[in-house]
Amino acid sequence: MGKVIGIDLGTTNSVCAYMDRRDPVVIINAEGGRVTPSVVGISKNGERFVGDIAKRQLLINPEATIHSIKRFMGRRYSELKPHELEMVQYNLVETRNGDAGVEIGDRVYLPQEISAMVLQKLRKSAEDFLGEPVTEAVITVPAYFTDRQRQATKDAGTIAGLDVLRIINEPTAAALSYVHNRKKSSTIAVYDFGGGTFDISILEVDRDLAEVRATRGNNTLGGADIDRRIVEWLLGQFQKEHGIDVSEDKLVLQRLREAAERAKLELSSAHETDIHLPFLLADATGPKHLQCSLSRYTFESLATPLFDQTLEECRKALEECRLGPEDIDEVILVGGSSRIPKVQEMVKNLFDRPLNKGFNPDEVVAIGAAIQAGILEGDVKAVTLLDVTNFSLGIEVEGRRAAKLIPKNTTIPTQKTQLVSTVIDNQRTVKIHVLQGESPNARENVSLGEFELQGIEPAPRGVPRIQVKFAIDANGMVQVSAKDTRSGVSNAVSIEAPTGLSQVEIDELRQEHSNYDERGDESDDLKALRHQIEKQLVSLEGFLRDNRGFLHKKDIFEIEQALKRGRMALLKSSDKGNLDDLSLYLARFFAHLADKTGGGDAPVH
Ligand code: ADP
Ligand code: MG
Repeated sequence: MGKVIGIDLGTTNSVCAYMDRRDPVVIINAEGGRVTPSVVGISKNGERFVGDIAKRQLLINPEATIHSIKRFMGRRYSELKPHELEMVQYNLVETRNGDAGVEIGDRVYLPQEISAMVLQKLRKSAEDFLGEPVTEAVITVPAYFTDRQRQATKDAGTIAGLDVLRIINEPTAAALSYVHNRKKSSTIAVYDFGGGTFDISILEVDRDLAEVRATRGNNTLGGADIDRRIVEWLLGQFQKEHGIDVSEDKLVLQRLREAAERAKLELSSAHETDIHLPFLLADATGPKHLQCSLSRYTFESLATPLFDQTLEECRKALEECRLGPEDIDEVILVGGSSRIPKVQEMVKNLFDRPLNKGFNPDEVVAIGAAIQAGILEGDVKAVTLLDVTNFSLGIEVEGRRAAKLIPKNTTIPTQKTQLVSTVIDNQRTVKIHVLQGESPNARENVSLGEFELQGIEPAPRGVPRIQVKFAIDANGMVQVSAKDTRSGVSNAVSIEAPTGLSQVEIDELRQEHSNYDERGDESDDLKALRHQIEKQLVSLEGFLRDNRGFLHKKDIFEIEQALKRGRMALLKSSDKGNLDDLSLYLARFFAHLADKTGGGDAPVH
């Protein structure tokens, strides 16, 4: 059996790790990164790009570059809120079964497929890294993911050719990393502030047990929302200076968004940052630039309301398990946004203790997944995970109401049996509408689907006694089984699967995607050339980042143009001659920069 890998399939970034005996190791991707952006670009002729290269084409080709797909996994189109639709520039549509899908050209991709492309890249990186085939994985999901979202994640794994041995909750994975390192019992808080979501979990851990006491989250609160606040501020600055409202211009918005994120990252270490966007817009009176500086103080005043919301969730989580901040022994920070100094200060103040900085916030979840993989492989001593369901599970009863069967925060795995019967004579089937959520009103909950019990023995109404068993397994996924127990004889009642992908559909997709290697049709020469250009562009970007403060505006502009030209050609061109020219041009450009900067600082290539 090959290695089982652990994957943190994030909204913004994904990370993959495995256990090298007892040591978790993060797998380096083809670009040399430990973190792979969860971004997929699809070109007109169906070629795909995943990770850093796709992230960079966001600006040039926003309609065909899919980011944040995790937000739409296993969700119905009708459930999506207007701001969720506006958050992305690709086209979300309703698929045949009512789920959200992504339309690119004349094809609609399911979120499962897009996620599968990310997983496939991680799997490939793992295979290259380990030098052997990889077919099994543990994948993490947010604690509040519903059954449908978990199922969709599992299906994405299957499409990517991975047998998903276990789905575990992200905070539980972070706790596993903690347990693996320390051998003492403690109460810990896992504060996970990522790109699209916020999560807080309180866990009781011991050397062989991790028990979730409470978990809460906000799946529309993350780094992207922080960026949006900065974008709004930038729009205001531009309006003040030029009297023009550019909030409807998609390309401008995308440039502002990128600049906002860059500024935010810089403000995690610097106290002030310059934002310079030349030629943001041009009208009859000439080109308009945006040039301003953002101080950490202003940034914090823009974003603190969001940070406050995360603290509010922390307080509620503590309340739910009847603990006070003083009962928490350690706080583990997870997610890129937890690197923001103000966030750290606020969390530290809330819990009134130093923060545990011993874990890399980008990697701790993937490492936990790898540890779980190690446990399943038998290489690592088992840790019992007492996780809880984050939603109540119920069924629809008369008057469109929801009757709870398994309440929220029940430790999983768990099960509950409900007796149902028929309402008319000789009724052969009974429909059961399964719901996930807290509302007493059936319609306000997430519908997991209508299970149809078939093959009930004919009998007068009310006579059949059908035992329906609802179970939530260790993956947090709902299983329904039923039997007709009339006159003591047990007959299994068959169950029509609820919505989602059928096994046949998954197999078809798996087949389709398995034939797909990224740019599989290209010659090795061309691949190597692309790789070289990619490296040149990356060093040029690094050069610009490091030297922005010392460079003349004209040089910055030239470099930005060269980068843009390079990225564009890399994406659009498969012509060897063209790419050769580009590589040469970039090499000359470097030489030219080296001359200007006195030789020493020019990027390598
Ligand atoms: P996810 O779990 O959603 O995949 P991550 O945990 O990778 O996300 O976090 C990504 C988010 O973290 C992005 O919004 C990114 O801008 C933000 N981020 C990463 N590093 C920093 C930093 N040093 N300061 C502020 N924000 C950061
Ligand atoms: Mg995350």
